[in-house]
Amino acid sequence: MTPQQLDKLTRTQELVDLENRYGANNYHPLDVVIERAEGVWVYDIDGKRYLDCLAAYSAVNQGHCHPRILQTLKDQAAKVTLTSRAFRNEQLPLLYRDLHDLTGFDAALPMNSGAEAVETAIKTARKWGYKHRGIPENQAEVIVCAGNFHGRTISAVSFSSDPQYRDGFGPFTPGFKVIPFGDAKALREAITSNTCAFLLEPIQGEAGIVIPPDGFLLEAADICREARVLLMLDEIQSGLGRTGKLFAYMHEGITPDVLIIGKALAGGFYPVSAVLASREIMGVYKPGDHGSTFGGNPLGCAVARTALRVIVEEKLSERSAELGSYFIERLQSLHSPAIKEIRGRGLWIAIELFRSARPYCEALMHEGLLCKETHGTVIRLAPPLVITKPEIDWAFDRIADVISLMQ
Ligand SMILES: *Cc1c(COP(=O)(O)O)cnc(C)c1O
Repeated sequence: MTPQQLDKLTRTQELVDLENRYGANNYHPLDVVIERAEGVWVYDIDGKRYLDCLAAYSAVNQGHCHPRILQTLKDQAAKVTLTSRAFRNEQLPLLYRDLHDLTGFDAALPMNSGAEAVETAIKTARKWGYKHRGIPENQAEVIVCAGNFHGRTISAVSFSSDPQYRDGFGPFTPGFKVIPFGDAKALREAITSNTCAFLLEPIQGEAGIVIPPDGFLLEAADICREARVLLMLDEIQSGLGRTGKLFAYMHEGITPDVLIIGKALAGGFYPVSAVLASREIMGVYKPGDHGSTFGGNPLGCAVARTALRVIVEEKLSERSAELGSYFIERLQSLHSPAIKEIRGRGLWIAIELFRSARPYCEALMHEGLLCKETHGTVIRLAPPLVITKPEIDWAFDRIADVISLMQ
């Protein structure tokens, strides 16, 4: 090893050590220290480049440091960043209009992180249940699905079925009922006169890109409508082009009552999330009922408006559909005793193995491809939607090599 190589190794190790020493060790990241990024590529502190196949859990669907979003961020940051909602700002109404024009929903409530938007959706559903359905006070129930991921707040982990997410964090928020994912009969049986909402991801991302049986969403929407239960979809990860449509629910031609979005809503530049609903549902709020210091701030709103425009104008949903099918088809040509299943929708692909996926992700990192195992045995592939066909071929070759070497 040359002195320069040793130097670089030392610097990576130094940063890893600093992080382990002074940070809360609530993550187990791959030891790649990223310094900059552009489009689908990220560069470590030694200048080595990697193709990003995680896209920050789909927060950078538009690609890293998208130049148009960057320009908006700079321009708006130089004007005004935060007013609080005590005053109005010039960007928030424009984001409301853009969201309405793009999605058709009447009303939006802006928050910051995804978990906050989930909390907001649950608060909305409960209030709606008391006001419009006459559910007795403090009795409202929300039905959720096993294998769900809705964030890390106390309420979200209260109804998680992952023991690690809950361990040591009780007491938990009551009022949730868990049914198997994709089971319409179980939904029908779980609904009572106190049920105000059914909250789910249309495709479960963190669980390993689990796709429910065809027709499930449609049936769930019917069941909810008949029982006057709100259908609330968490599309924080599945939405905004990831599955090959603007939203995953569009694959089944339904419309949820409440839609939760985040992540790619601001292209990875800024945390922006929102709850979208009809005027009737959102009408449960009066001034003072709910809020957020940063929610709806002009910097976040400006960034989100450009981030949405990029998704539409660069046809990222269409790209995801087309390139996703191509990628899945290529991956399905791989024959290895290590592979249990290849599945996906759009550029949201799972390689499910019969064994731990972590060593594969580590080997792929050394080959210049970044992805993260999920739920032990799944390699999740979710590159920025601006990826090109030759880049997919490049990624495929790396994956094929690693899988054939490690079997
Ligand atoms: C990421 C995610 C969340 C939580 O979002 P944060 O911004 O991390 O709080 C909630 N639901 C789903 C489906 C997610 O993928």
